[in-house]
Amino acid sequence: MKLGKVSNSQMIKEINQQKVLRLIYTEGPIARVDLAGKTGLTQQTITNIVNRLLSENLILETTPVANGGRRRPIPLIINSTNMYAIGIELAIKYVRGSLMDFHNNTLKEVTEFVPRYENEEHPMEYIYKVIDQLLEQVPEKEGLKGIGFSIQGLVDSNKGTVIYSPGLRWRDFPLREKLEERYGLPIYLENDANLLAIVESLNGELASSEQSMIFKFDYGIGSAMVINKQLLHGANFVAGELGHYKAFTGEDAISCHCGAQGCLTTFASISGLKRNAGFTLEEFYKALREHEPEAIELFDKIEASIAKAIANIITLFNPEYILFTGRFMDKIGDRMIPALKKDILELIPESCQNVKMIVLPETPNESKSAAGLVMNYFFNVPFSEFY
Ligand SMILES: [Zn+2]
Repeated sequence: MKLGKVSNSQMIKEINQQKVLRLIYTEGPIARVDLAGKTGLTQQTITNIVNRLLSENLILETTPVANGGRRRPIPLIINSTNMYAIGIELAIKYVRGSLMDFHNNTLKEVTEFVPRYENEEHPMEYIYKVIDQLLEQVPEKEGLKGIGFSIQGLVDSNKGTVIYSPGLRWRDFPLREKLEERYGLPIYLENDANLLAIVESLNGELASSEQSMIFKFDYGIGSAMVINKQLLHGANFVAGELGHYKAFTGEDAISCHCGAQGCLTTFASISGLKRNAGFTLEEFYKALREHEPEAIELFDKIEASIAKAIANIITLFNPEYILFTGRFMDKIGDRMIPALKKDILELIPESCQNVKMIVLPETPNESKSAAGLVMNYFFNVPFSEFY
């Protein structure tokens, strides 16, 4: 956070208060003494902040645990009764929404399947349908703190726009503006792979790592790169476009929707497989199981191209972890992942051999992560602050 001239003691006070609130949220129940230890703030400052938060009803004191005859510190927790968030996973083939309370319980989940988006406004119909159904289930309307989105497309999370998503038929689409107008609630957007990187880096598989990469093979291909605990956005928020890595050459280099040729996504994604090889993912899976030579040849070609692309990226960035996920891998990963691991290790230099390659057992429910986006913003520590 930049502290310019406008900032003053009031702003620092607010930042400290948010730090304390955030710690109570992530680590509570937590005692005042531990808050002081973890923030480096004085006991007196903590006492002042806690009194303020108590008076605003944002936190609660709970019953201390017995500790011999000594004075027992009172644990503090977030007062999350009646606080809710809606999370929306905006995928190319479906819109899934979850209504969650701030204890991470799901109150209601709704999925609308989409045959095909016909025009720019079409995805909005499905989004409204899902949100409207969830809104009916919110126990107390004033408790709803916002709507978060995980989006299969390039997202400018600051401006609240979708920069580009061919599947959704959007280019510079002002999603936040449209939704704020309709619902009057805070709206938060993040690209699906970036959101996954944030969630996994906060408390998931990548929590211990400062250098990691996520590769999501799904309807399209998404990736996110965490460098020194910072999400790499790139100059135009489009870093990590692995789908358009030039992977195929010769007669395999066919045209991609981006205008170029030979992009990885032309075969190594659910949409590419269908468009350019005539297989749905299910058909491809079945053909592989039945040892159809055409499918096996295609599989080998795809696998070799992914391995080469990722080996090059590992060689350039030297990540500690790489993580595979997405429905493409959910389905054929049993066969694909061991081959990828073996080939990648053969392709990368000795200096990078300690890279750890992990796979999420199943692509997470991203509507829940998107609801988490709301909770995190509510506690006013934007994700950019963690990185
Ligand atoms: Zn392309």
